Amino acid sequence: MSYGGARAFAAAFRFLGVDARVSPGGDEHTYELAGRYTSGDECLPERVTIGNFLKVIESPGFVPERTAFFMPTAGGPCRFGQYAPFLETVLRQVGHEEVMVLSPTSADGYEGLGDLAGPMMKLGWWGLVGSDALRKMLHIYRPYEVEPGMADAAHEAALDLFCGTLADTAIAFDKKVPALAGALEKGRDLFRRIPVDFSKETLLIGVVGEIFCRLSTFSNEDLIRKLETFGAQAWLSDICEWVWYTNAEQEKNLRLFGRAFSLEMLGVKLKKHIQHDHERKLLAPFKEEFVGMEEPHNIREVLERSYPYLPYTGSLGEMVLSIGKAIYCYEQGADGIIDISPFTCMNGIVTEAIYPRVSKEHEGIPMRTFYFDGTQTDLENDLGIFMELAHNYNRKKTRKRKRRLVA
Ligand code: SF4
Repeated sequence: MSYGGARAFAAAFRFLGVDARVSPGGDEHTYELAGRYTSGDECLPERVTIGNFLKVIESPGFVPERTAFFMPTAGGPCRFGQYAPFLETVLRQVGHEEVMVLSPTSADGYEGLGDLAGPMMKLGWWGLVGSDALRKMLHIYRPYEVEPGMADAAHEAALDLFCGTLADTAIAFDKKVPALAGALEKGRDLFRRIPVDFSKETLLIGVVGEIFCRLSTFSNEDLIRKLETFGAQAWLSDICEWVWYTNAEQEKNLRLFGRAFSLEMLGVKLKKHIQHDHERKLLAPFKEEFVGMEEPHNIREVLERSYPYLPYTGSLGEMVLSIGKAIYCYEQGADGIIDISPFTCMNGIVTEAIYPRVSKEHEGIPMRTFYFDGTQTDLENDLGIFMELAHNYNRKKTRKRKRRLVA
């Protein structure tokens, strides 16, 4: 979960009467706490989430019997499915087995959330759409800000407005979408008031990869902020992409099992229709801002681009999306692609093996995987080299980028 996404989810829970808070951010102590209970075989996101939950246990005022940790789960070969059971094991080890682990899964329609499941599905979606949009605004404005820190401050204030509206119990559930769209418009205007120089030359870099690591600035050592110091503007793949992908997977599986014409399929189609409609309303204020960085209208646009390299009919997960989105970014005039991956994660390993061919077949656009394992790396140096390649590519590329040049 991204910082903004986690804040929005907590706000959504608060609207439903649950006293929800975002778990603390990562720091050295996160790794120190996680290191006491992990062996080193776990992937980085698992260490970060365990460490941050353990920080909650250490915090003053922690009441175990009144605390639950929200840690969704999923099936499949990815280690993510092990996070929740592992968290329960660690809680037993630290003597806090009474702390509940709330672990909903799409496999059972999020039954684990009980009565909250229905409204939470919608509130969570609105929260993801809004927080994704505000993070994209941050990445659009920050490279051009005249005074450092203004874009971060605007992002924080815009998130406050958005999450405040989401949590506000005075706004009825059926009035939430227009209210949230209004809050996002006000948030957009906070960005518009930042003094910026949009005539500054930047290179557009598509950032794809494993969902947790690419969105957690702590886990990826704030790669995008560092990239911006080399004159880049990042286009980071968002969380909504994952929701569209899981919808497409649900449809694919229903077809595979002969249930193309079933009530379940109707439910998936209806859910998608409502999600699209709400997304359109929430994103309406950002039309001008997102020029040249429009997301694909349909997730199939990403999956089809990936197909010659990693057919979605057989491959699963972020690796498929990363390849497809990288090609999509190339077509929109990006100057390079960065893939963020936790060390030892299959996503990065697979995509890294495929990128040389993708690059060769797309004018030689530079594509590079950056691995993270929580230890110090020479990230600045590597980014500097990558940006040199991006500059060289920029001089010869034929796909021109569409840019807004005025504030
Ligand atoms: S995608 Fe990779 S890093 Fe992420 S949870 Fe799965 S195994 Fe771990």
